[in-house]
Amino acid sequence: RSKEQGGRRVEVFAAHMHADVVRRLELAADLQRALLDRQFAVEFQPIVDLATSRVTAVEALVRWWRGSAFVPPHEFLGPAEDTGLIVPLSEWILRESCREVAAWRASSWDIGLSVNLSARQITAPRFVETVAEALAESGLPPSALTLEVIEEMLVEDAEETITRLSELRNLGVRLAIDDFGTGYASLAFLRQLPVDMIKIDPSFVSGLGRDETLSLLTRTIVRLGHDLGLIVVAEGIERPEQLELLREMGCTRGQGYLVARPMAARGVDTLMRTSLQSTA
Ligand code: C2E
Ligand code: MG
Ligand code: MG
Ligand code: MG
Repeated sequence: RSKEQGGRRVEVFAAHMHADVVRRLELAADLQRALLDRQFAVEFQPIVDLATSRVTAVEALVRWWRGSAFVPPHEFLGPAEDTGLIVPLSEWILRESCREVAAWRASSWDIGLSVNLSARQITAPRFVETVAEALAESGLPPSALTLEVIEEMLVEDAEETITRLSELRNLGVRLAIDDFGTGYASLAFLRQLPVDMIKIDPSFVSGLGRDETLSLLTRTIVRLGHDLGLIVVAEGIERPEQLELLREMGCTRGQGYLVARPMAARGVDTLMRTSLQSTA
């Protein structure tokens, strides 16, 4: 009897697996087409200086409209990484976002750009050259570009990854550790990479004012960052109370729905006009 049940369980499992495999294959094929059909877009989320409330940078975030359905990045970035499509996709995101931000800077708006890197992109041939080309083509100065990496990227090909990132740093590009505090290697990462910025993960920021341990940890990360001479960005700010506490802690910058949602380039155009007017 137990054998029979076990057999049925295997069948149910196999059916699930089959559906999952089919879905993944379809997704992979659709991704390929999506790149050719220009179904991807870049949105920009403003990052503000907490002391002055000025927008100092925008983070580029990829968007995929698969027909009329929005597919969140966490659903397609894994498959894009597995199929290698992440490499041409990332190159497109980089060029596109450098071009937009260079245009805003040409309107005498002093803002920077943050772009997320993927593990496979960093170890792809000509990665450093591609970044240099995107900068040269757009006219964006290297110091205006920050590349965001997460600790998981050091799990494989750590040596090569560190070498490539150091080469970029030598070009004058800035490096940030994204989702800081969530990986086991946070502090080791800081030691191995010439990092300029840490971005505190929303899982800490979410507890500000509500959870004593998370508040204490956030305060500790801010202090650690400052002691190391780094820019500290808090991510996922949704409530006014969080903003107040981060200001009081002396956190450098903030990002989150309360400050501004990710928006299309057109939205940033509007933001720029208001921002330039208010400083004129
Ligand atoms: P991330 O780099 O940590 O980006 C921040 C994510 O948090 C974005 O999600 C953003 O929309 C979301 N977010 C911002 N403020 C808030 C807030 O106040 N509350 C909440 N709940 N969420 C907030 P998104 O766009 O879905 O991206 C998820 C992740 O996918 C990113 O996390 C990044 O790891 C990856 N990703 C996004 N775009 C790209 C890209 O162009 N290239 C690569 N390689 N990865 C990307
Ligand atoms: Mg990021
Ligand atoms: Mg993050
Ligand atoms: Mg993330």
